[in-house]
Amino acid sequence: MTRQFFVGGNFKMNPSSLEAKKALCTILNDADLDQNTEVVIAPPALYLLPTQELIRKDIKVSAQNCYVKTSGAYTGEISPAALKDAGIPYVILGHSERRTIFGESSEFVAEKTRAALDQGLSVILCVGETLEQREANQTSEVVEGQLKEVVKVVKEEEWSKIVIAYEPVWAIGTGRTATSAQAQETHAEIRKYLASAVSSAVAEATRIIYGGSVNKGNCRELATQPDVDGFLVGGASLKAEFIEIINAKR
Ligand code: PGA
Repeated sequence: MTRQFFVGGNFKMNPSSLEAKKALCTILNDADLDQNTEVVIAPPALYLLPTQELIRKDIKVSAQNCYVKTSGAYTGEISPAALKDAGIPYVILGHSERRTIFGESSEFVAEKTRAALDQGLSVILCVGETLEQREANQTSEVVEGQLKEVVKVVKEEEWSKIVIAYEPVWAIGTGRTATSAQAQETHAEIRKYLASAVSSAVAEATRIIYGGSVNKGNCRELATQPDVDGFLVGGASLKAEFIEIINAKR
């Protein structure tokens, strides 16, 4: 089976003006993009709707986070039901910045995944180890531990709504990319884990994308790896080189 290549742009808390956001949308709108690649951009929450208005229709928009409840007294949170109502099809969950800075546990990330799926949203589920954990040879254990909680709450047929983003924490925003061999090794392990924990059909069909200092210089080689089905791009998604990353398979 062929998995559709997937490239996500995680703008994080950038840029901090609508003008800059418009400029980014214009670059993407004018670009010649590989139509075989699914492209999703994740602007900060406040800009989700304007971005959805401005961006070409073959690019989807994603939230960067959401809460577990549909409504109620949860000041400052975004409901997955509200994302659905606003026509936002994707949400990023479990990003390492959420796990580390905001203390989100794997159980909580799994709860959020459940809540997002309940609203029909698709999820970009991020997993990844720290440098210490990699050096202690704990990469598979950590990543499987993060996935395990999600496996517990997701039905087999719902995995088609999940894209797994393997993002080694030591590679995020550091300019230090995993080598294509390191990425391939962990992606293959994740696929093997899905085969044993869910089913071989799910393992075969689920897209596993790589994130962590992806740029125009390293994307082509990473994209040649058999288990690398795309990218989640932070810093470089704010620049014109994002186009080259989207077209990495062409
Ligand atoms: P980066 O971020 O490309 O800037 O390393 C990736 C991410 O955090 O999703």
